[in-house]
Amino acid sequence: MILQLSETVFDVAIVGAGASGLFLASHLKRQKVAIIEANSRVGLKILASGGGKCNVTNKNVSASNYLGDKDFIKPILDEFKPNDTLAFLKKHNIDVELRKHGQFFLKNSAKDLVELFKKLTKKHKFFLDTKVLHVEHGGVFRIETSKGLIRAKRVVVASGGISFASLGASDIGYKIATDFSHTIITPNPALVGLSLQKEQFWMKKLSGISFNVKLKVADKILENDLLFTHRGISGPVVLSGSLYWSKGKLTIDFLPHINLEEILNKDSKKLISSTLPLPKRFIKEFLGSISLKDSPLSSLSSAQKEMILRLKNYEFAPAGNFGFSKAEVTKGGVCCTQIGANLESKLQKNLFFIGEVLDVTGELGGYNFQWVFASANRVARELR
Ligand SMILES: Cc1cc2nc3c(=O)[nH]c(=O)nc-3n(C[C@H](O)[C@H](O)[C@H](O)COP(=O)(O)OP(=O)(O)OC[C@H]3O[C@@H](n4cnc5c(N)ncnc54)[C@H](O)[C@@H]3O)c2cc1C
Repeated sequence: MILQLSETVFDVAIVGAGASGLFLASHLKRQKVAIIEANSRVGLKILASGGGKCNVTNKNVSASNYLGDKDFIKPILDEFKPNDTLAFLKKHNIDVELRKHGQFFLKNSAKDLVELFKKLTKKHKFFLDTKVLHVEHGGVFRIETSKGLIRAKRVVVASGGISFASLGASDIGYKIATDFSHTIITPNPALVGLSLQKEQFWMKKLSGISFNVKLKVADKILENDLLFTHRGISGPVVLSGSLYWSKGKLTIDFLPHINLEEILNKDSKKLISSTLPLPKRFIKEFLGSISLKDSPLSSLSSAQKEMILRLKNYEFAPAGNFGFSKAEVTKGGVCCTQIGANLESKLQKNLFFIGEVLDVTGELGGYNFQWVFASANRVARELR
């Protein structure tokens, strides 16, 4: 016999008090809402996001910035746009700042957003330190938790992906979905650094160096900073690129907007390292990797110039990625073909999925929070 945690049959039970669960709960005013959270505090990922300043949205949001079914994603994004996120924050006196690549960050701290959510959800019933273990339906939903049973007429799964288990992530959303016969698209780490094969180990010596590159992966071309680390490559361009990479080759242009061929054909006594607009350490290690000495441009043979031209088109296959513990998000998740346009399960009435638990994953730059808010907004409209 499982202990009943509350006599109330809640109108809505939300599994997870992360960004999507809190945003949804903030927009449900009239219902009796239970929010069940495994952590002892709410919104831990929000606090960790954007270097503590939470990159809440992006000026350039469109379905093309997401991995997933574009026809499913687009109408949900169209209904709640970046300007709606900004208006919500403005209404509650939270200032934002626009940074490069259209990214909006909170001016002060990610804490402000968590505090706002706490304020807006005050009247709801929080079950903290309470892990959801199993959900079943028989007239109402019976939610089995680590502390006892909670009952509700509707359940919204807002439990996120499985990345960053240190912040409370678990596979409960996938388990609930599977129990109701949903298909799960294999989860994989995304927005994550990539590790290297032996031929690219020269890059490991460049730990800490970062500069702007163009990255081609699958049919995507992305431009942003690449950061070399002792484990491999990271930085915004690689994190976004990891969304579209599963295995095989990718190509880096280390000198975007530079006509390298023209530079190399100059009859100049200047050394390669003093001519190319790249960090000296990078040039040294790159030249070492192609067994070339730093020498005057005028002394280079055609074959040597060809080798240096690889900087514009450096193609290689990463060994893998840094794994779920370092991945900002999880790609894959609950398959959207079995989810209605209102985010309700097509297989179980009154069961909804929002946020990262779904097979929708955005690039780096505020796209994931925008999806979280837009999907929560869609369900809020349904439940109001
Ligand atoms: C370090 C880091 C930085 C990031 N920075 C940004 C950024 O700046 N901009 C951006 O757009 N995105 C960012 N992201 C991604 C973004 O945080 C997520 O996409 C977003 O938080 C997903 O929201 P969610 O509500 O779907 O899931 P989550 O925010 O992960 O919330 C899920 C909640 O469910 C709870 N839970 C899990 N299992 C159970 C269970 N069994 N029982 C009860 N509760 C459970 C978890 O504890 C958690 O609180 C970042 C992610 C990380 C890890």
